[in-house]
Amino acid sequence: AAKREGRAAYQFATASMNEAALERLQLEASLRLAIEREALRLEYQPLIELATGRMVGVEALCRWDDPERGAIPPGVFIPLAEDSGLIESLGRWVLLTATQQLQRWHEAGHGDLMLAVNLSARQFQRGVVLEQVEEALMVSGVNPARLELELTESVLLHDGEAVMNTLRQLKALGVALSIDDFGTGYSSFAYLRRFKFDKIKIDQSFVRDVIDDPEDAAIVRGIISLALSLGLHVLAEGVETESIAQRLRHLKCTYAQGYHFARPLRPEVLAERFLNPPPASA
Ligand code: C2E
Ligand code: MG
Ligand code: MG
Ligand code: MG
Repeated sequence: AAKREGRAAYQFATASMNEAALERLQLEASLRLAIEREALRLEYQPLIELATGRMVGVEALCRWDDPERGAIPPGVFIPLAEDSGLIESLGRWVLLTATQQLQRWHEAGHGDLMLAVNLSARQFQRGVVLEQVEEALMVSGVNPARLELELTESVLLHDGEAVMNTLRQLKALGVALSIDDFGTGYSSFAYLRRFKFDKIKIDQSFVRDVIDDPEDAAIVRGIISLALSLGLHVLAEGVETESIAQRLRHLKCTYAQGYHFARPLRPEVLAERFLNPPPASA
C-alpha cells in the first residue's frame, strides 16, 4: 500500500510539476506577445534630493498588465524574460521608450531631469547593451549626461574583462552608472574597487528599519560615509516615512526614493503632480 501511495504521490508531484512548467510556458508566450505588441508600459518613480525635497530624476519601472491574469509584477516577469532570452527585446523597448519620454520632458522645459533605467545581467552577457544604449540615445536625442544605468550584482558577478570593457564603453558615452540594491550581494564592496561607479543605491531592506534596528542603522551609516568618502552619490531606496527621511538627511544621504515621496506613477500623472505644479493661488 505504501508503495502504491508513494507512486500516487509521485504521479501527483509530476502532474503538478508539469502544470507549473506549462503555466510558465504559457506565461512566457504571453510575455512574448506583450513585447511584440508593445503592451508593456513604464511607470516613473521620483528620485528626491533630500536636502531640498526637490525631484531631480525618475526611475523607469516596467509594468505588465495581462488581459487575463491582471498585473504581473516585475519580480515575476523580469526573471522569466531573463531565462527565456526575451529580456533582450524587453530591455531595448524600455530604453527606447524611457529615453523618448525623457526627451519630451526636457523639451517641455525640464532639461535637468535625470532618468534611471534598470539593466539586467543578460543584456550584458550577450553584449547587446552597448548597442541598445547608443541606439536609444540617438533615437531620442537625449543628453547622455541625463541618463543613468542601474546595475545589480548579477551583472557584476561575471566581472570578466568583457563586462569591464562594456562598463568602460558605456561610461565613454557619457552616461552615469549606479549599483542598485547595494549591500544585498556577496561582494558589493569589491565592485567599488574594480570600477568607478557614480552612485550607490542602498537596498530598501536596510532602510526600512533604520530607525528601530541598530545594526541596520550602522550599515546604512557606513554605506553613506563610504560613498561620500569615495566621492559617489548615494541614494536610499524604500523610504516610506518622514522620520526615515529625516534620519537619512541627518546622516547626510544625498538622495532618496520611496512611497513617502511618491509611488511609481504613469507618466501623465507624474507630469501633472511634479512637472506642472498649479500656479500658486493669489
Ligand atoms: P529596483 O530597481 O530596486 O526598483 C525599486 C523597487 O522598489 C520597485 O519595485 C519600486 O516600486 C519599489 N519601491 C519603491 N519605493 C518603495 C517603498 O517605499 N517601499 C517598497 N516596499 N517598495 C518600494 P518594482 O517596480 O516591483 O520592481 C522590482 C524590480 O524589478 C526592480 O527593483 C528591478 O530590479 C526590476 N525591474 C523593474 N523594471 C525593470 C526593467 O525595466 N528592466 C529590468 N532589467 N529590471 C526591472
Ligand atoms: Mg533600480
Ligand atoms: Mg533597488
Ligand atoms: Mg530590487
